Amino acid sequence: MAKAPLSDAIHPVARTPDEWSAALAGLGERPFRALEVFRWIHRRAELDPERMTTLPKSLRAALFEGATSVGQLETSHRAADDTRKLLVTLRDGAPIETVLIPRVSGPGSAAATASEEDADASAADDEDDDEPEATTAAARVRVTQCISTQVGCAMGCVFCASGVAGLKRHLGPEEIVGQVLLAKQALDPGEELRNVVYMGMGEPLHNYEATRRSLELLTHPEGIGLSKRRVTVSTSGLVPEIARLGADFEGQIGLAISLHAADDEQRSALMPINRKYPLAELVRGLAAYPLPRRRRITIEYTLVAGHNDAPSEAKKLVRLLSGLRVKINLIPMNPISASSLGPPAWERVLSFQEVLTSSGYSCFVRRRRGDDVSAACGQLALLGAKPKVRTFTRSSSPGKAERG
Ligand code: SAH
Ligand code: SF4
Repeated sequence: MAKAPLSDAIHPVARTPDEWSAALAGLGERPFRALEVFRWIHRRAELDPERMTTLPKSLRAALFEGATSVGQLETSHRAADDTRKLLVTLRDGAPIETVLIPRVSGPGSAAATASEEDADASAADDEDDDEPEATTAAARVRVTQCISTQVGCAMGCVFCASGVAGLKRHLGPEEIVGQVLLAKQALDPGEELRNVVYMGMGEPLHNYEATRRSLELLTHPEGIGLSKRRVTVSTSGLVPEIARLGADFEGQIGLAISLHAADDEQRSALMPINRKYPLAELVRGLAAYPLPRRRRITIEYTLVAGHNDAPSEAKKLVRLLSGLRVKINLIPMNPISASSLGPPAWERVLSFQEVLTSSGYSCFVRRRRGDDVSAACGQLALLGAKPKVRTFTRSSSPGKAERG
């Protein structure tokens, strides 16, 4: 009987060890090879089968036969703060971007304290960290990676370059995980990939199946082995898929909600998805998310001058969120050339934050990282919507509220 072809509907990079077993059985390979192949791809981030030196040559040749590329790492732009924006060209030539945000920690590292307080792109930040710190004399550099799930985005948020561009296509799970594998190859010595945030281009829950599989792969203990609570999915609020995510991963995956307004009229003007899933429904969905003890949902609130930045809006937000276990990240809007909207004055940001912190919320102003390479939120779209040079430079988390 003819051997079954190795390549089937599931891309090799998207296969779980069990699926590798099934695929390899068709080639007459022994079962232990499945885990070996999976480890080569995910744990060692090896995408060239010829370099999988423990495998027989015939198997190496067959592994990726007929499979498409997960993407090609083109360039890496390094910002003054060491944030790196990696440009990846997909198999059809579509460009996507993924961002590496290093954060120095470890004994004696001055940067550790400063950056641990700023709750920047790492929504899966350390106040939820109950893991013991490794005791090492050397400072370690923990890296948060921000990944994309679609080319463009269908959600049409008016302040976001991806939304303005519209949806070009979904990424496959292998392309989502591929960003992490390509980035692992590009880490600096001493850097450790610690957090992954689904905050690049696209709406992850609009591409649910690929997102779900990518989460399974990134957190697989035989692969990259990221802790589930160190992986955060950010969504504009697709209520049914929030429930699916909660059920599929028992609430272990970090959840960030792009709220951006506390009343329906304002939110619908900024985020068309609100017409489908208005705030009351979204808040019910968040209350039902099976959040583990001591964990919180991250609320992202992009401050857009003249739209959602008044202290009265902050008070509405306090009322809306009462009863939910949340922490709030305020993001002064990063300007995009496709829109005349922009960030409020710094004093306005502080006043907004003050309302929230004085009501007892943990609330941080997200420090902008990688500005000089246009790697900040909402700027990740090389689709004709080129970001403007920023004019807003203040950063940090003034008036830090208590954590916990
Ligand atoms: N689609 C998902 C994840 C990607 S966007 C979501 O919307 O949550 C990641 C975050 O960047 C979201 O909170 C989004 O609202 C925010 N964002 C988008 N454009 C921005 C901009 N121009 N300035 C600041 N934040 C922006
Ligand atoms: Fe899409 Fe998120 Fe941008 Fe809205 S903010 S358009 S959901 S990527």
